[in-house]
Amino acid sequence: MDCIFCKIINNEIPSKKVYEDDTVLGFHDIEPTAPVHILLIPKEHINSAAEINEDNSSVISHIFEVAAKLSKEFSVSDGFRIVTNCGDKAGQSVKHLHFHLLGGREFTWPAG
Ligand code: 5GP
Ligand code: ZN
Repeated sequence: MDCIFCKIINNEIPSKKVYEDDTVLGFHDIEPTAPVHILLIPKEHINSAAEINEDNSSVISHIFEVAAKLSKEFSVSDGFRIVTNCGDKAGQSVKHLHFHLLGGREFTWPAG
C-alpha cells in the first residue's frame, strides 16, 4: 500500500521518532504548527477515525496513554491539544489514522 505513514513505520522514510512500541509510533511532524507537534499513529493501517471499530479500538486508548506520557516528557502537560482530522472536509491529508499532539503555545476555540 502506498502510505507515507506505513513507510515511516517500516523505516522506508526517515522520521524523528519520540516513542515506539509494538503497536504505536510517535514522531515529530515534518511541518510543525506548534513548538511541540508530535504525530501518534497505530502501526496497524487504519484509514481514519471513521474506521475505528470494536476490533481495532484498543490501540486508541493506548495512543492516549502515550500522549499523556509524552505531554509530561515534553513539558506541555498543563496545556495541550490532541486532534485527528477525519476525511477531506476536515483536512485529512494523510489517509493513515493519526493524532496530532500539539503544545507549547496558546490555542483558541472553536477550531476553524
Ligand atoms: P493531516 O493534515 O492529515 O491531519 O496531518 C498530516 C500531517 O502529517 C501534517 O501535519 C504533515 O505536516 C505531516 N506529514 C506529512 N508527511 C510527513 C512526513 O513525511 N514526515 C512527517 N514527519 N510528517 C509528515
Ligand atoms: Zn498506512
